[in-house]
Amino acid sequence: MPITINISKDFGNEKARSSQWYRENRHGYQAALQAFDSTPDEIIDIVKASNLRGLGGAGFPTGLKWSFVPRDSEKPKYVVINADESEPGTFKDKYIMAWDPHRLIEGTIIAARVIGAHAAYVYIRGEYVRPAEHLQDAIDDAYRHGILGDDVLGKGFKLDMYVHRGAGAYICGEETGLLESLEGKKGWPRLKPPFPAVEGAFRCPTILNNVETIAHVPKILRKGAQWFADLGCERNGGTRLMCLSGEVVKPGVYEMNCGSQMYELIFEHGGGILGGKKMKAVIPGGSSAKVLTAEEADCAMSIEALQQAGSMLGSGGVMAIAEDTCMVKLLQVVTSFYAHESCGQCTPCREGSGWLLTILNRILQGGGRPEDIDTMLSLAANMQGTSICALSEACAWPVESFVAKFRDEFEYFVQHGKSMYAQRQLEAAAV
Ligand code: SF4
Repeated sequence: MPITINISKDFGNEKARSSQWYRENRHGYQAALQAFDSTPDEIIDIVKASNLRGLGGAGFPTGLKWSFVPRDSEKPKYVVINADESEPGTFKDKYIMAWDPHRLIEGTIIAARVIGAHAAYVYIRGEYVRPAEHLQDAIDDAYRHGILGDDVLGKGFKLDMYVHRGAGAYICGEETGLLESLEGKKGWPRLKPPFPAVEGAFRCPTILNNVETIAHVPKILRKGAQWFADLGCERNGGTRLMCLSGEVVKPGVYEMNCGSQMYELIFEHGGGILGGKKMKAVIPGGSSAKVLTAEEADCAMSIEALQQAGSMLGSGGVMAIAEDTCMVKLLQVVTSFYAHESCGQCTPCREGSGWLLTILNRILQGGGRPEDIDTMLSLAANMQGTSICALSEACAWPVESFVAKFRDEFEYFVQHGKSMYAQRQLEAAAV
């Protein structure tokens, strides 16, 4: 059964910030102790066999990523946790930091043990005030109890862990933009390669993972790779936190086995669409994921299944869209976000996102031109594969998919200067 987190409750509690409570109730720090009795290669093999994939968006196999870190390098090594969680529709990591911070600390210790890192940073978005405070409380407690510091768990291993607050830029959730920001610079993404495993924080070898990914590691070590793999589906081990939002009766965070059905999330746990309306579409993996029609969204929530459906599972942010939502207006909202958040380094992203927004605003103001729709598609095509990071694609994909699947709504708006749904409401009011 999925675990439902009620987002209307106060989140975070005193107990969860206590390492004693974590030890007594959650088998706390057993896996970290176990890690010190295993070799780094043994731990990497376990994580590989568990089919744990990165849960921040890219879905890269975690064990494989760890294996890329050159452990024989003379440079210092670092662990960096991405807690920026900036993709619209994604709001899960803050609950882990608030409700289960010691699990994140324990996972971080294990990752540090694997590569021999003696410093770890958690980069938390600026808006996450309470999660950052709760995690800091837990870190302070861990220091007081010899879990962090010069002699981690009495094993003669040094690890310092720092909370680093961001200032609210979406692009600092991109791993290299995050690293630049962490180093005190403007959060501009770097060209890759080199990838962070080889040249990450301070140009040193770095494990860089999302909060939820790292928080899974203690259980994998304690209960075994096979146990974790069996919870999920082929090549997607374990469970993941799905963030359900949009026009649903019960939005929230639901822990579900990887490969569970999207309709189960939306209709069984989420209660379906508000007002008993039909569902028209779903954005399945954060706002940059290509939109799916309701029929296409009747699929499993695995990385491969969503790829086959023509979209992506991304950061697990599922947004359900009702039958009478204006897709032109919705696309304008999404595009305005990415246009605002483009860091401006690359011309296709900076100019493309700005022009897309200009055209959409013109259409919404009733001044759409017949050629506007194809001009948007042309701009979107030129924004892909031509920039430093994926924000450019994140802006282009919604445009392409919204127009491909709901072109009639865009054509109606251009022709009539208003949404077809606004027109229907006027007609209904007149009857
Ligand atoms: Fe900045 Fe956009 Fe280029 Fe990414 S793609 S580096 S956000 S301009």
